[in-house]
Amino acid sequence: MIIVMKTGAHESQIQDVIRRIEALGYQAHIIQGTQRTVIGAVGDERGKDRLQSLEVMPGVETVVPILQPFKLASREVKGGKSIIKVGDLEIGGQAVVVMAGPCSVESEAQMLLTAQSVKAAGAKVLRGGAFKPRTSPYAFQGLAEEGLKYLDAARAATGLKIVTEVVNPVDVELVAEYADILQIGARNVQNFALLKKVGEVGKPVLLKRGMATTIKEFLMAAEYILSEGNYDVILCERGIRTFETSTRFTLDLSAIPVLSKLTHLPLFVDPSHGTGQWDYVAPMAKAAVACGADGLIIEVHPNPAEAQSDGLQSLKPQKFQQLMDELRPVAEAVGRRL
Ligand code: PEP
Ligand code: MN
Repeated sequence: MIIVMKTGAHESQIQDVIRRIEALGYQAHIIQGTQRTVIGAVGDERGKDRLQSLEVMPGVETVVPILQPFKLASREVKGGKSIIKVGDLEIGGQAVVVMAGPCSVESEAQMLLTAQSVKAAGAKVLRGGAFKPRTSPYAFQGLAEEGLKYLDAARAATGLKIVTEVVNPVDVELVAEYADILQIGARNVQNFALLKKVGEVGKPVLLKRGMATTIKEFLMAAEYILSEGNYDVILCERGIRTFETSTRFTLDLSAIPVLSKLTHLPLFVDPSHGTGQWDYVAPMAKAAVACGADGLIIEVHPNPAEAQSDGLQSLKPQKFQQLMDELRPVAEAVGRRL
């Protein structure tokens, strides 16, 4: 249920409503609008009609049901778009935010070199996996905490923010000590223990769509994080599995307008994993911005031929620079900037 407070409702009235929601066995989530405060009451769907009685409380304008199963993620609860603040960086605002860097953190020199070049090209966030989810147990698994230290050094040298993946609930606190944004990978989109855990730490989360996840399931996964009280969730389309084998996955760009209608959360696109091939990255990145993405995450490696993972889909720094230059007019054409 959504409890819509009257414009100018007093803080004590809001607190009374929250207490009543909790007494009825529901969680209260405050959503601050520009005009008024809205309180989302979420919990067991059965018996939610009892929340209707809140309508008579002082300061309450109306009580309406949230029809979608993803409650806090839905546009019903928040009509406008969410802007996520990562220090001085805004995600989901007018500027399209680009995250870039290698698939895996491999060395301090690799991270420094990449960080400097992607920053010069206009990226705002450095990516790089220290904990890698690999299909084969024999493939490079990442440098773990050593890798996090290299990310930290690259941040200190450039001022870029850092996004890095966490694959195991037991590592969430460690990764959160270093990362500005925690990444949940496609293979973990329904790892509910991990989703709850990142919901408990106060760091923004980049949640990737699974390769076989419907848009509804994707939003329900986000709901796991939001329902723990972490509202800073960025959704990322990264390709789904179809019958097509010419590309690594099929980048479902139609998910962007669909998600824009359903959710207020910022929407990103990953054209690197979505296509699996470096020369398809630029056209799909431009298409992503054209169809309304709030940002991109792109793999860039100083020497893709020697990359420990995903070299085939990684751009060289100079190609990334060229892409950023080509993205600017696309962003402007849809009322955004880079
Ligand atoms: C990655 O970003 O390197 C990655 C493993 O992505 P995904 O989870 O989308 O496959
Ligand atoms: Mn990768």
